[in-house]
Amino acid sequence: MSKIEFRAESKKLLDMVINSIYSQREVFLRELISNASDAIDKIYYKALTDDNLTFNPDSYYIKIDANKDKRILKITDTGIGMTKEELENNLGVIAKSGSHTFKAENEIKDGHDIIGQFGVGFYAAFMVADKVTVTSKSLESDEAFKWESTGSDGYNIEPAEKAEVGTEIILEIKENEEDENYDEFLEENHLKQIIKKYSDFIRYPIKMDITESMLKEGTEDEYEDVIEEQTINTMVPIWKKNKSELSNEDYENFYNEKHYGYDKPLKHIHINVDGTIRYNAILYIPENAPYNYYSREYEKGLELYSNGVLIMEKSADLLPDYFSFVKGMVDSEDLSLNISREMLQHDRQLKLIAKNINKKIKSQLLSILKDDRKSYEKFFESFGQQLKYGVYSDFGQHKDLLKDLLLFYSSKEKKLVTLEEYVSRMPEDQKYIYYATGESNERIEKLPQTEMVMDKGYEILYFTDEIDEFAIRMLMNYQEKEFRSVSSGDLGIEDDEKDTAEEEQNENKDLFNAMKEILADKVKEVRASKRLKSHPVVLTADGEISIEMEKIINAMPD
Ligand code: ADP
Ligand code: MG
Repeated sequence: MSKIEFRAESKKLLDMVINSIYSQREVFLRELISNASDAIDKIYYKALTDDNLTFNPDSYYIKIDANKDKRILKITDTGIGMTKEELENNLGVIAKSGSHTFKAENEIKDGHDIIGQFGVGFYAAFMVADKVTVTSKSLESDEAFKWESTGSDGYNIEPAEKAEVGTEIILEIKENEEDENYDEFLEENHLKQIIKKYSDFIRYPIKMDITESMLKEGTEDEYEDVIEEQTINTMVPIWKKNKSELSNEDYENFYNEKHYGYDKPLKHIHINVDGTIRYNAILYIPENAPYNYYSREYEKGLELYSNGVLIMEKSADLLPDYFSFVKGMVDSEDLSLNISREMLQHDRQLKLIAKNINKKIKSQLLSILKDDRKSYEKFFESFGQQLKYGVYSDFGQHKDLLKDLLLFYSSKEKKLVTLEEYVSRMPEDQKYIYYATGESNERIEKLPQTEMVMDKGYEILYFTDEIDEFAIRMLMNYQEKEFRSVSSGDLGIEDDEKDTAEEEQNENKDLFNAMKEILADKVKEVRASKRLKSHPVVLTADGEISIEMEKIINAMPD
């Protein structure tokens, strides 16, 4: 039996492409600019093997012109152009990608620069235009042709006049509808924004005629509109530049331009990985927490680029919650995009990148801690709580990764110390890592429970964050030293082994019994203690949970 080929209802297919692939209309411009960039790349690749062709980067550009009155948006490129057949095949057949074929035919192994692959991006133009006209002259032909379509009822091709090799696309922008604004796609500023957002790192200049009001020559207060051709995109992304060429200021400028934050970043991390997965990233550790950081509103994530083209503004999967404060971007050539270029087909590569990034962030934080303690303390003040949540969350599975990043106030040093520093100072006879919980350092200092431990000359960590004790319970120990609250019944101090002063206990039996009766449902036992020096009485926790933890748990909403 002979196989019968599938046929597609082109009209319906086109309708699907236009209406259901993209979540945002503005990406039509990203798609058309990407195609223009691909067309220029193709000349570049041809010139590599064809001696008759030279590639002078200065003569290649993409131009965007908007005409509000005529409701026309024009995208011109000086790329390779299309022959009549190519117009038919590439723009007339949905899901046929001339760029994909080009990569295969020319055996471009490192053809990652060419963006096109699915053969649908072009039709995104119909999301904003009633009619699209493509006039193109191929490098391979002396004739130019015009392709025209209103989307729904097929297309026409006819000979046309065009002097230069390349392509010109004219979009007749739709009229505004009740709650649909199309005018914005004719506004200079809005177009600039869209270009900056998605296509800032296209390697060829994207030019626009920008109208600027300037002081009229020879006058002091008369202005005139001056039109000036400007390049809108940055072109060479900072992350592809050599680290040695970049100054701190360059990184700070990028941080501000990208609106990652309004502060100055504390530190940046510039990553170039060329292994099983290739990616570049610029990450920032901010100095201050954004106002909504510790709220549900805060959205973590990094910008995700595929070969210089923005795919996602906030890819949450790239950052674990405990590093949710990190800002920045990742660019990779190896992502398998889905057809909308807004998502990934599978997240294997993304997981690899995330894992890698995670390690880099940790080692960067450790190096700040080691080399620039002041900055680290500032950082910890802003984001330390998040790290402690990280130790506690997900059943403690990240605790080993995070434990060396924690700081706590020390009774001895009168400043923040790491657990490692604490343990390295421990006298030989000290069994536990002691901590005391309270509202503030001043309050903790006055706690009677701290006296005995301090008298022994041992250091105490002050826990003033609600999360502290929860995190430390999850950690359980550090370098095999267990944590112990100073209000615990057993402090592991030699002459404290029998905490109860038995003699006194017996002598005052009646008094203690009376006290216990009065405090009946508040205490389990009243007894004499050797622990106290200057305080008359101390509360001691008996069970698993400390008094402070109990307070927090009781205050939690059910
Ligand atoms: P893709 O870019 O994924 O291949 P598109 O629908 O965006 O799919 O474009 C289809 C094809 O049309 C491209 O692969 C390319 O061969 C051709 N094409 C589109 N725009 C241009 C252009 N400006 N210059 C040359 N060829 C183009
Ligand atoms: Mg395309």
